[in-house]
Amino acid sequence: MADKHVLVLGAGQLARMMSLAGAPLNIDVSAFDVGSEKIVHPLTQNVIGHGLNNAIAKADVITAEFEHIPHSILDICQQSGKFRPTTQAIKAGGDRRIEKQLLDNANVANAKYAIITNRSEFDDAITYVGLPMVLKTALGGYDGKGQWRLKETTDIDATWHEMQQSLTATKHQAIVAEEFVPFQREVSLVGARRANGEIAVYPLAENVHVDGVLSLSTAIDEPKLQQQAQQMFSAIAQQLDYVGVLAIEFFDLDGTLLVNEIAPRVHNSGHWTQQGAEVCQFENHLRAVCDMPLGSTQAIRHAAMINILGQDSLPKEVLAMPNCHIHWYGKEKRTGRKMGHINVCGNSHAELCQALKTLIKVLDEAQFPQLKQHINQL
Ligand code: AMP
Repeated sequence: MADKHVLVLGAGQLARMMSLAGAPLNIDVSAFDVGSEKIVHPLTQNVIGHGLNNAIAKADVITAEFEHIPHSILDICQQSGKFRPTTQAIKAGGDRRIEKQLLDNANVANAKYAIITNRSEFDDAITYVGLPMVLKTALGGYDGKGQWRLKETTDIDATWHEMQQSLTATKHQAIVAEEFVPFQREVSLVGARRANGEIAVYPLAENVHVDGVLSLSTAIDEPKLQQQAQQMFSAIAQQLDYVGVLAIEFFDLDGTLLVNEIAPRVHNSGHWTQQGAEVCQFENHLRAVCDMPLGSTQAIRHAAMINILGQDSLPKEVLAMPNCHIHWYGKEKRTGRKMGHINVCGNSHAELCQALKTLIKVLDEAQFPQLKQHINQL
């Protein structure tokens, strides 16, 4: 018999990995597919029930693996009193306007911005924010989708035309205009907060994106940057009275961090914790939402993660590599889809780099574009 039943809104790989991490603690995880309203087993995807009310009735705790969830569903979950973190946090993760307001309220550094819903606001934003700028749809954008770059004044009309089409297609949702940040790299902090205010964060990860999608995440040990990130994490988590794992993505601009965005959930850049930390992010999320003591977030070895996109097999040699751990998500193959990841470890930074270099020799370069060059820069 399980001690706790946790319902996850969303039935993807994050619910799957929560289920795997929960089993040793007698935490039973089921997943709710918000599109079909089916309750499914997170590992087998077998349907085990139907309807939100049934799912809520069977759960001790409800949480989410993604932020683009209809507010009507979130509100019903919130009313049950079982939802963790808070629906406000999920809404902030899914709407850049709410997110920016949250960052301002928490007093953490982020790119200067303006909100645009019509042409005159666009013109005002150009004056206030300045060029170059990055324009992002307020709702529904992820992995770099729903974004425009505006560099020159000569492109203003063309950009407006494109954005207007998008605004119309998406029922006039807003666009957030942000100053372009000439950052050197992107890093993220994943951590957990419990209802009593206890916080435990992992080491920062340095993230490399290819075509807007995370490709490589490497845990780093940089105390000054870590301290900055931790302070911002505490400010945001406290502002939200957050419970669970929260991820914060930052731009590193000459050693100063600016928050890019938050993810109110376990995060792709925290997958390395499965092999690289004492207790992984999935277990710590479950511990936090079930109000159990948090596990240690200490790194136990040097670790990195490589995403497997759009393919469902790897050369056999990878399994034989002592420092490589494959995690498949059991999903049907689709171009560009996140299908799994490889965690790579070493007892030192040099050993990790060596393991990564050995690994990329057997991976198909076309399937892992630019990976070799990024690994060589570590
Ligand atoms: P996002 O969906 O906000 O994470 O944006 C996707 C990617 O676009 C980020 O990972 C950055 O590489 C880039 N980006 C987003 N916002 C900015 C910005 N204000 N300045 C420069 N690059 C940005």
